[in-house]
Amino acid sequence: MRIFMKIGTACLLMLTLMSSGSARHKPVNLILFIGDGMGVSHVYAAMTVSENDMTFPSFPVTGFSKTHSANSYSTDSAAGGTAIATGEKTNNRMISMRPDSTILPTLMELAKSAGKSTGIVCTSSLTDATPASFVAHEPLRYNYREIAGWYIAGAADLFVGGGRKYFEAETDAGGGADKPRDIVSGLSEAGYDITYDLESFVSSGSERIAGLMSAGDMPRLHEGRDPQYLARATAKAIDLLSRNRRGFILMVEGSEIDDAGHSNDTKMVINEVLDMDRAVAVAREFADRNGKTLIVVTADHETGGMSIADGNPGKREVTGAFSIKGHSGVMVPVFAYGPGSIQFTGIQDNTELFHDFCRLLSLNNKRR
Ligand SMILES: [Zn+2]
Repeated sequence: MRIFMKIGTACLLMLTLMSSGSARHKPVNLILFIGDGMGVSHVYAAMTVSENDMTFPSFPVTGFSKTHSANSYSTDSAAGGTAIATGEKTNNRMISMRPDSTILPTLMELAKSAGKSTGIVCTSSLTDATPASFVAHEPLRYNYREIAGWYIAGAADLFVGGGRKYFEAETDAGGGADKPRDIVSGLSEAGYDITYDLESFVSSGSERIAGLMSAGDMPRLHEGRDPQYLARATAKAIDLLSRNRRGFILMVEGSEIDDAGHSNDTKMVINEVLDMDRAVAVAREFADRNGKTLIVVTADHETGGMSIADGNPGKREVTGAFSIKGHSGVMVPVFAYGPGSIQFTGIQDNTELFHDFCRLLSLNNKRR
């Protein structure tokens, strides 16, 4: 009897160690969600109003990220994205370059060198600062055409979002000598299947896919963006990228949480956060099946200086309050799930996220 009890205790101990240990194991895949402009109040407002329990706020590991840039206490999305994508602080408006304009290798570029697959899914333009930070190197975030051109270099095997006009040849070339650069043709030559709507994107059988979903930014949810878009595009990306046995890195951006903060619009904040959470649920489902996938959900900065003045969880009501129209300097939350997640507990600089990713995914990040 006693021996059975001992065996039972040992089994129980092993199980406990295995489950708690998983947070300390190394992942092969990373799915990174960036809620642009998403602070703690944005998340809590969505939690209060959400009909069902949200996915990422239930992640077992939580922490905070300090977001200041090299030249500003309040970062913009360019320097914020650069910090996460390259592990170095730069000046606002700069894309994956040091303040002196030297190029910084990005997480996606390092992943490609390691034989992993990579992808980007966003709800704004693919040329916007956050996605740009993972694939491009530009001294100014507003160099949209140049940023579009960087996608030809192939740092992302799959990318989907808005901003089609920056990839297409300018049609108003009024007899100028310079032929405008058609980036779409360059992408085709590089083996990308170019798709222009969600259905053709998700049904593409290509190993490299570009999804150019709208001419400019994609519409916000309340302007008619398909509420299935982000989750379905994320599912397609995972389906494609996970075929690589060496693993993958996928960055999904809830881009328009930031717009909602700039507009000081509580309802829009909530809808855009819940939209991203639906995509996180897709990722978690995959991570649970796969067992080697780390999910990290964070933000590049907070927008709106949002607070919550009042609320009623029973009635699913919340009254948001905003202190500014721009970005604030507060720390942003980090939520982590899966192998390696324990690394993201506590307070870290945003640059540490990158270094943690490199360590956990064994990416070679040797700098001069
Ligand atoms: Zn912003």
